[in-house]
Amino acid sequence: MPAAQTNFAHHWMPFTNNRLFRETPQMFARAEGVHYVTPEGDTILDGSSGLFCTPAGHGRREIADAVHAQLMTLDYTPHFQRGAPISFTLAERLAEILPEGLDRVFFASSGSEAVDSAMKICLTYHRARGEGQRSRFVSRNWGYHGVNLGGTSLAGMVNNRREFSGVTCDVVHMRHTWTEEQRYTCGQPETGAELADDLEEICRTFGADTIAGVFVEPIAGSIGTIVPPKGYLERLRAIADKYGLLLIFDEVITGFGRTGSAFAGQEFSVTPDVMTMAKALTNGAVPMSAVATTAKIQDAIFAAAGEADRPELFHGYTYSAHPVACAAALATLDVYRDEKLFDRARDLSPRFLDLIFGLRNLPQVVDLRGYGMMAGIQLAPADKPGLKGSLVQRALFDAGLHVKATGDALIVAPAFVATDGELEQMTDILRRVLGRAELH
Ligand code: PMP
Repeated sequence: MPAAQTNFAHHWMPFTNNRLFRETPQMFARAEGVHYVTPEGDTILDGSSGLFCTPAGHGRREIADAVHAQLMTLDYTPHFQRGAPISFTLAERLAEILPEGLDRVFFASSGSEAVDSAMKICLTYHRARGEGQRSRFVSRNWGYHGVNLGGTSLAGMVNNRREFSGVTCDVVHMRHTWTEEQRYTCGQPETGAELADDLEEICRTFGADTIAGVFVEPIAGSIGTIVPPKGYLERLRAIADKYGLLLIFDEVITGFGRTGSAFAGQEFSVTPDVMTMAKALTNGAVPMSAVATTAKIQDAIFAAAGEADRPELFHGYTYSAHPVACAAALATLDVYRDEKLFDRARDLSPRFLDLIFGLRNLPQVVDLRGYGMMAGIQLAPADKPGLKGSLVQRALFDAGLHVKATGDALIVAPAFVATDGELEQMTDILRRVLGRAELH
């Protein structure tokens, strides 16, 4: 349907300036491969895999067929005291690719739900071991962990917290890991590992025995790809172990091959105690997320429940392990395996990052960062923070490229099925638009 015929009165859009959107709507009507098509029939290259969701490209028939078949077989089942074999099959398949030891899987529907579920699992674990006073979390400035109240508390972005300060949980923030020295670093920065010592300082200040765990994105995604300095995640792991804290990696963006490994924890050889995933779990086709944790954590929680006939964890969602989502995830994992897409991400990454770092000399660009198949392009801010990012994002759309802007950073994260030519086309559009005088 052409945009002109759309009634904009009723849908309140998330994270959107609804007024501006209604004045100049930018919409998609169809998608295939690495392209969107607008209602007017214009083709838009997808430079951000939607929102980091579609490494296998859009319109995958294998996933669509599996979803349809599942809908016609078992469209819905509750998972409270009931079950369906498909969720156990999916958890087993995931265990094959998850980091060593993280083979207990709890399902939810969104990244935000996974984060809040992970927080509750951590709290329940400590309580089960008689350390219920460990109720505080540590996270990081510039972190994004979804928008439910747990994730809002963990968030390190002021706009996402400001309105909700009265209801957030007790979270202490470490510094983010970007430093001036790292400007224009491709891959892991050499400097900055000592920023992990913020965790030790927080343990000393607040009492380690009051802290349940520390949440980080291995690569901070939503802020515009901040890659961990060499040694940083290892140091966090060591400090967490020293003080009995759980280490939680939020891999909602980095999971499923974005770094070249199945999960970023594997890529950086640091294994967390708890891990969240979503988005690419179903190639974006059906909402689904998961929390993976260890047998040690699950066993402690199960043991505390004893023989009583009660749930070990008083938490779950109507759509936890939805059978249609499970079918989509299983079909997605087949595509990733059969097409060796994680290897392809690793193989494609040097060329992708080369193209992105080729934008270095544009006057608008003040920093570039990248790892695997994700990159951040930091733009010189306009009068108000975020204005430049928003203007450029809209101009890119008009020029035929969808990328996600966050503040004044652009996040480029193409599908792994993108061709060399398509990656070149993306960077050509970026160069053309970022070079325009009126956007300076
Ligand atoms: N955690 C991280 C690291 C994310 O990047 C996101 C979403 N971008 C979320 C959690 C929240 O996911 P959702 O929007 O599916 O709730």
